[in-house]
Amino acid sequence: MNKKIRFAISFLIVVLALTACNQSSKTSEGDGNHFSQTEKTNAEIQPNTAAEIYVKKQVPVLCYHRIENGRNDEYTVSPATFEAHMKALADSGYHSISPDQYYEYLVYNAELPEKPVMITFDDSRVEHFTIGAPVMEKYGFKGVFFIMTITYNKKNYMTTNQIAELSKNGHTIGFHSWDHTQAIKYGNDSILKKNIIEPRKKLEEIIGKPVEYFAYPYGLTDERTTAQMNDYFKMSFILSTKQDSINPIQSVRRMIAPEWKPQSLLRAMEKTFSRR
Ligand SMILES: [Zn+2]
Repeated sequence: MNKKIRFAISFLIVVLALTACNQSSKTSEGDGNHFSQTEKTNAEIQPNTAAEIYVKKQVPVLCYHRIENGRNDEYTVSPATFEAHMKALADSGYHSISPDQYYEYLVYNAELPEKPVMITFDDSRVEHFTIGAPVMEKYGFKGVFFIMTITYNKKNYMTTNQIAELSKNGHTIGFHSWDHTQAIKYGNDSILKKNIIEPRKKLEEIIGKPVEYFAYPYGLTDERTTAQMNDYFKMSFILSTKQDSINPIQSVRRMIAPEWKPQSLLRAMEKTFSRR
């Protein structure tokens, strides 16, 4: 073999080796890209517009207040009815979701489990801890507890330790005002401070986590208040009134679950959340 041919062959080997090396580094780079694609943070994903959020299919969100016998009002269910509701949801294949999951679905189109439902409780009643949470846990559900903070450690209401324990057990703690003053009256700074800023901070200290979700006292809000909540919460909840099309994320709908037979509840859920 003459020198020229030997050189040409060595050159070819080097080129082939380099190509192979480049190929393999490309493959691993490709995997790297693939990984970073799936790990993409929300900061890089374009959030849905209000109009896009407004037309997304709603998740049924149930709202409970009292769980006790002997009261006949729409804010109360008996312990037996509450358990029957949870059993019916589980038997029908519902999966409870957290406000974080609902938010990611509405804003970033994250996937939800099949037949999602959110189970929420207002006003910090002690039976939310003694009955609500254990019964939900029996059926594999997690709940959302909207705390009215003036009730801490008062008779018939949850203690701060119980609230912290719910949070530790994987339930979500939300905010429901300091003393149940209607949110439409939060206009000026001192009222806002007293009703949201200071009590929310205290609640965050109790559970050691941010409190990012709000349920309007009485489910009441107006256009101005709904827009204002963007400064304080990721997402806020009304009852089954009309959702605000300009700020749908601050007017997410819920329905009160009264002393109904489970089948009536399931039917009402479907009907209520198929309209706005
Ligand atoms: Zn309330």
